Amino acid sequence: MSALLKDRAAPRHAVVIGGSIAGLMAGLLLRARGWQVTIRERSGHELSGRGAGIVTHQQLWQALAHLESGALREAGVEVLERLALDSSGHEIGRIAYRQTMTSWDRLFDLLRQSWGQSRGESWGEGDYRLRSELHGLTQDAAGVTAHFVDGSAVTADLLVAADGFRSSVRQICAPAQLPVYAGYVGWRGMIDEADFPASYHERLFGVFGFGLPKGEQFIGYPVAGDGQDMREGHRRYNYVWYRPADEATALADLLTDAEGVTHAMSIPPPLIRPAHIAAMRADADRTLAPQFAAIVHATKAPFLQPIYDLEALNMAFGRVALVGDAAFVARPHVGAGVTKAAEDAWALVQALGETADIPQALRAYEDCRLPLGRKIVRRARHLGAYMQAHLTTDEEREAALRHHAPEAVMTETASMDF
Ligand SMILES: Cc1cc2nc3c(=O)[nH]c(=O)nc-3n(C[C@H](O)[C@H](O)[C@H](O)COP(=O)(O)OP(=O)(O)OC[C@H]3O[C@@H](n4cnc5c(N)ncnc54)[C@H](O)[C@@H]3O)c2cc1C
Repeated sequence: MSALLKDRAAPRHAVVIGGSIAGLMAGLLLRARGWQVTIRERSGHELSGRGAGIVTHQQLWQALAHLESGALREAGVEVLERLALDSSGHEIGRIAYRQTMTSWDRLFDLLRQSWGQSRGESWGEGDYRLRSELHGLTQDAAGVTAHFVDGSAVTADLLVAADGFRSSVRQICAPAQLPVYAGYVGWRGMIDEADFPASYHERLFGVFGFGLPKGEQFIGYPVAGDGQDMREGHRRYNYVWYRPADEATALADLLTDAEGVTHAMSIPPPLIRPAHIAAMRADADRTLAPQFAAIVHATKAPFLQPIYDLEALNMAFGRVALVGDAAFVARPHVGAGVTKAAEDAWALVQALGETADIPQALRAYEDCRLPLGRKIVRRARHLGAYMQAHLTTDEEREAALRHHAPEAVMTETASMDF
């Protein structure tokens, strides 16, 4: 049979490694095109975004529209303006900018519903399996086999690596392609609307807020509340406060827990030392606008996210395709991670079409997506230069200067117009 003809009696089989946003998007799109899909997720429990807010772009809705799911409507809270405050709390800029703000949990729930199972059912078994960690893979002309820590194996026509920025699959296929620390961290948090400082609520809650202390940046915006509640009074407020942290000293200390263990790349939120949280809160009083400092104080469990750049040199390895953060991680200033994951998934199914020549289709996918991934990472690096502990090139110094200006920051942050 010609390699270009699909044998309709035997659906093509894809195994997706990683059951987060990119994995579900790729799995859903492949399944909608007749693939038999198995998703394997390492986590032993249901995934949760721990309060991560997500800004969205038109491109995300366009990519999600291919899922043909009614569940993907009403995905977030709409804001109409961006506003910047100086460190004493005075307004230093305001622009009109319409954008929908959602949260990781909201998107994940919508995708999971589209997968066909709702919370409380036998999620984590069947074709979406929890507690299933990949540790090896082999491939030949006939197929690719994923090997899991529990001793099981899955053989498929295609393996989609949606296993995030520390991707095991990438470490197997391209061990030298690693994330690079950007020189700063984001302190993150989310508070219930009811806990938002009452005296600032009217002016600040419904807008995308910016604070620009020297060499730092605070951003905050409203998202849906618990249980995806979007009623006024029941929403939540999400923020990220970017601060420089030298890798060898400040970052190493931030990643060291109370037992003296220094964690690699990130630290689980419950292990962040209380002294670091107390110091961060005290710094908020000294550094941020009083409105933003009050929000930081109202946060019960702030957490820390070191910021990395990751640029894969390849996205296709025979029958293996990298999607989402496994291939490219851009600093969060473009707010493109989810959009990029959705576009990767869509480009992948487009490239695969009806062909049985998977390696050739994946090379076409790579040709299409590599330049876009690189472009987003470069843009995010440009926007983040202002927060870096060390500026090394003239380009970085120029970008840092530009992004201290409120107008430039408000116009260019979380925008895909570049
Ligand atoms: C501070 C910050 C702010 C952000 N803000 C935004 C924003 O506003 N807008 C936006 O679009 N994006 C944002 N992002 C990025 C966004 O969250 C991600 O790009 C997006 O969720 C895609 O992630 P992913 O599915 O590729 O990877 P992940 O969500 O990391 O998922 C990878 C999955 O693979 C699993 N896994 C790993 N190894 C294995 C293995 N060996 N076997 C099986 N499973 C495995 C993991 O358990 C995990 O569930 C932000 C990121 C950060 C850090």
